[in-house]
Amino acid sequence: MRNGMVVLVGAGPGDPGLITVKGLSCLKACDAVVYDSLSSEQLLAAARPDCRKVYVGKRAGRHSMKQEEINRLLVELGREGLYVVRLKGGDPFVFGRGGEEALALAAEGIPYKIIPGVTSAVAVPECAGIPVTHRSLSRSFHVITGHTKGEEGGLPAEFGQVAALPGTLVFLMGLNSLPAIVEGLVKAGRPESLPAAVIENGTLENARTVRGCLGDIQGKVLEAGLHTPAIIVAGEAAALDLSCKSGLPLGGVRVGITGTASFRERLGTLLDSLGAKVECAGAMEVNSHADSPEMEAAYGRLSRYEVIVFTSANGVRLFFGGLLKSGRDFRALGQVKFAVVGPGTAGELLKYGFRADYMPQVYRTRELAELLAQVCQTEGGGAALTAREGTSPRILIPRSRGGSPELTEILSRAGVAFDDIVLYDVTGGLPVQDAAGPQTGCDYITFASASGVEAYFEQMGGEAMERLAGIRTVCIGDVTAGALESHGRRVDVLAKEFTVRGMAEAILNDRSEGDERR
Ligand code: SAH
Repeated sequence: MRNGMVVLVGAGPGDPGLITVKGLSCLKACDAVVYDSLSSEQLLAAARPDCRKVYVGKRAGRHSMKQEEINRLLVELGREGLYVVRLKGGDPFVFGRGGEEALALAAEGIPYKIIPGVTSAVAVPECAGIPVTHRSLSRSFHVITGHTKGEEGGLPAEFGQVAALPGTLVFLMGLNSLPAIVEGLVKAGRPESLPAAVIENGTLENARTVRGCLGDIQGKVLEAGLHTPAIIVAGEAAALDLSCKSGLPLGGVRVGITGTASFRERLGTLLDSLGAKVECAGAMEVNSHADSPEMEAAYGRLSRYEVIVFTSANGVRLFFGGLLKSGRDFRALGQVKFAVVGPGTAGELLKYGFRADYMPQVYRTRELAELLAQVCQTEGGGAALTAREGTSPRILIPRSRGGSPELTEILSRAGVAFDDIVLYDVTGGLPVQDAAGPQTGCDYITFASASGVEAYFEQMGGEAMERLAGIRTVCIGDVTAGALESHGRRVDVLAKEFTVRGMAEAILNDRSEGDERR
């Protein structure tokens, strides 16, 4: 019998990006996940496809599972020998009943671990621009439930004492008790002018904040029609609004990204920090052909190549993976030199212990090709690397299907012999209804490779052009742009550098040009 275990993981306050690194690793690895917050559903995508997902929360028209039943379920799953993640909103031990679950597991001898989470009590006010402590304004903060079972108005019996505390008061689960909270605070001597704020769906894109004071907050909340989940903040700090007023450069801009998960993460993180709202517009998969007869033959004659050219980080990763799988090791590379298109590819190469020998100053395929042509003609001692009858090519280009013909054209023109071999291709997509389009309000959509463009059009079929209508298309380079144009769609934004940074910068420039146009 295998021994199972349960990890209580704090999922964070709503924004899926606010789970901890440790929590996410557990989620990726687990056999079963027990969850109750719908907002964490996005996080579930990180779990393995075969991971058992058990929903125990409140769904429209159905009652949520009782706490005792959840405890029992966790014990049973643990007994089955499964590695279970119990995903809990915010932090497991802040009004999350995580403590009860821990006790139930302990009582049954099921091993468990707790991974803290970012609690909404701090993060929700924070994302609305309200610091729970602030020098000279609030020296403490107190987190209080607005929903106590068996108590009138839902407030804890000691509410009077709590209400009199200086500092910031943060009420969770208190929206329905707002009138009682306000009344209790006033009764405890807090002035009606005390600043107060209520935040709905904090940390999320659809967050709403209503600001006021004890005297008028209830009316304002009713008028705005706020719903749960919501947090009430009362105290001097509630008057502050530290959200960046000048705004982030891409604030309010929505970008749909197509590409592989790792590419989407890299570009998405950068755009997100610039203030953009990022969504997935097409999930692409990389399919390796590292074990094809052509690649096998290339692996077999590695020592004869003088330069291996990589045009993407994927190419590097698959090339070295394939090399090991073929039964060889890195000694097979001997004295070979490496050429890369840019720093992203160079960084991936370094992970395998190799420095790039050649990288163009401008990170584009054309510059890479020109650099190679030049290297071959000078370093190689005239025609050393150039095609000679009867000799095998000395340059290997393992790359994606449909890679830039510019690279090979320039090399051919320079008389340089090469092996251009398909190492991988990119396919995939996203269920059409989930993909970005005008109906989702996207301003931009990004394409990072010609094969990504093809995969997008294949996936969207007849709907592709309609989905791109009114959205500005962003391409990483000319080859990608060419692929888009061959489908009859104009390219609006072209990156100057074939990198994630280059794409972000192109969008930034397009925004400021747009401002000037307006
Ligand atoms: N363990 C959680 C809290 C669970 S109690 C934590 O640490 O955050 C649930 C309450 O948290 C809700 O009723 C609401 O008051 C608050 N809450 C959680 N997420 C929220 C969000 N995104 N926006 C506003 N309030 C939120």
